[in-house]
Amino acid sequence: MRRRLFAASAAFAGLTACSWFGGQTFTIAPTADRNILLVTIDPLRADVLGAYGGRAVTPNLDALAAHGARFEFAHAHAVVTLVSHASILTGTYPYEHGIRDNTGYRLDAQRPTAATLLKPGGFSTAAFVGGFPLDRRFGLTGGFDVYDDRMTKAGVTGDIAERERPADVVVKSALDWINAQPGKWFAWVHVYDPHEPYEPPGEFASRFASEPYVGEVSWTDAALGPLFDRLRALSRPTLVLVTGDHGESLGEHGERTHSLFAYEPTLRVPLIVSEIDPSSRGAKIKGRIITTPVRHVDLLPTLLASAGIAAPRFPGSSLLDAIAAGRGPERPSYFEAMSAAVTRGWAPLRGVLVGREKYIDLPIVELYDLASDPKEASNVAQARSDRTRVMVETLRQFNVAPPARAQQETAETVERLRSLGYIGGGSPTVHEKYTDADDPKRLVEIEQLLTKGNDAFRANRIDEAIDTYRTIIAKRPDTEDAYRKLALAYWRTNRPQLAIQTLESALRNGVTQSEVRIKLGQYLAEGGQPAKAIELLKDTAGTDPDALVALGNAYTIAGRFADAATIFRRLLAADPNNAVAHQDLGIAQLQLKDLRNAEVSLRRAIQLDPALAGAYTALGVVLANTGRVPEAIETWKRAVALGDTNAADNLRAVR
Ligand SMILES: [Zn+2]
Repeated sequence: MRRRLFAASAAFAGLTACSWFGGQTFTIAPTADRNILLVTIDPLRADVLGAYGGRAVTPNLDALAAHGARFEFAHAHAVVTLVSHASILTGTYPYEHGIRDNTGYRLDAQRPTAATLLKPGGFSTAAFVGGFPLDRRFGLTGGFDVYDDRMTKAGVTGDIAERERPADVVVKSALDWINAQPGKWFAWVHVYDPHEPYEPPGEFASRFASEPYVGEVSWTDAALGPLFDRLRALSRPTLVLVTGDHGESLGEHGERTHSLFAYEPTLRVPLIVSEIDPSSRGAKIKGRIITTPVRHVDLLPTLLASAGIAAPRFPGSSLLDAIAAGRGPERPSYFEAMSAAVTRGWAPLRGVLVGREKYIDLPIVELYDLASDPKEASNVAQARSDRTRVMVETLRQFNVAPPARAQQETAETVERLRSLGYIGGGSPTVHEKYTDADDPKRLVEIEQLLTKGNDAFRANRIDEAIDTYRTIIAKRPDTEDAYRKLALAYWRTNRPQLAIQTLESALRNGVTQSEVRIKLGQYLAEGGQPAKAIELLKDTAGTDPDALVALGNAYTIAGRFADAATIFRRLLAADPNNAVAHQDLGIAQLQLKDLRNAEVSLRRAIQLDPALAGAYTALGVVLANTGRVPEAIETWKRAVALGDTNAADNLRAVR
């Protein structure tokens, strides 16, 4: 603490010196001649950054704050990645853009984003995302010339939501694009490294051994450094806006990560607005600290105002005046946490912030005075019932629409599923009435058990994981992820029949998430029942990439290669850079003896993902069958190095 005070007074002395030489306080003058960089760090607690008094070592972000505007009291509207980014990019609340959870929702293609609104102002536009929840399939692509969502890493639990790409790789891709832009640009860079599991690379692992989340944030700052450095060498200035999509609970309120509650550790985020000016005037600019409450819906109006672009009507307001004045009007903010409501049927969490007062609308209502109780330790909803009534009325005025049901199914689909014995009825996941028993505060134990099961799974304590998932299902039979993880645990330990039965029982118990059906289709096909898998998936796959992969593979296993090729082509039409789809199409073409097209598909797969072992194996077969045996051998050797056993058999056969 003493060191902090010293640092603060040194900064103060520096600023005083600056003003002697005409140093100015940070403002943003609207201009058409400026790049815009939006950086979202996922997940990022406000209080972890150095500039916010936290323990992470974040010199790059701290420097932006020191010469820009740092907002002390900024809030997200949601506590999961896709919902929050949709609010940031569209400048609207979740009930307006309609995305209420990470899966089951798509952004309406007609809804304007920061990219669609900036583009007519002459900006080239690009997005570089580091985590699967922002995959192009979810529809945030509107207005972006480039939407780079190539993931390079898969998580150990086999959950598609765990796919990600490290921050330095995301930054490299963004720099390549920025360096190629002849004119001004808008870039959105999303980095996902602070997401759990917290495994900071290299020296950050040992330096932050007891606080790996803090280590991830420190590493992320270091990885962003080259991006900010490059902006200092461009011909025009760049407005830089950095925020977190939401925070991370780190065990507070019984929540380890984020999504269940909306307490300050997950709802309050850092917000830094700064400018990188190649003329180096920036070094003399004095930063601002602004304590007025601000919200993610204010970001898009701020970006548009900075570029001098007239904004359509938004719920938020530009922050330029607040930045110039050092304070602004206090506006209420809406927030929600709907994931457990739409996936598990728990009570939906909604709330409002007004000044430093926070109201959470659940069966057991909560009211906190954050000025005197920043840790939200003392619920004063009963003691200050007059204030509670005012907050209830404020929330009512937001006119919040309930979530649309995730993954709407057609009547025909429901009928087909019923004919397979998989679904009991409509089973709406959003109910009319909730009781105290549906309050997430009462159900946090289920969340903790899930975490315990996932930890056991990751540590390869499979029996413990299985017991834990079964306990959860017994306590709360609508817990979709418990079924999926339990089935995966059986599958990984060579018990395919139990895996299939687990997912079938999920569908019987009214779990309607498409992931469950897709996984069931995959297990049925790979477990020797491809016809049943095809029946399950063929009318429901739509354009969902994972459903199409599972369906295509089921056709392949059934020996219906022409049908498989059709499905993989449909997938590639929706997702042209899907390396696995190119590989699987190539394998189907190989089976159809269409060697020329098979070679094209397989080479494209390898180009997109040089670690795709199966593509090398199949390409080797094409090469061997077209008189290029030495090249085939080299290709199979590469496949063996990547862990493919079929290629090893091929090598033995050819020798
Ligand atoms: Zn996130």
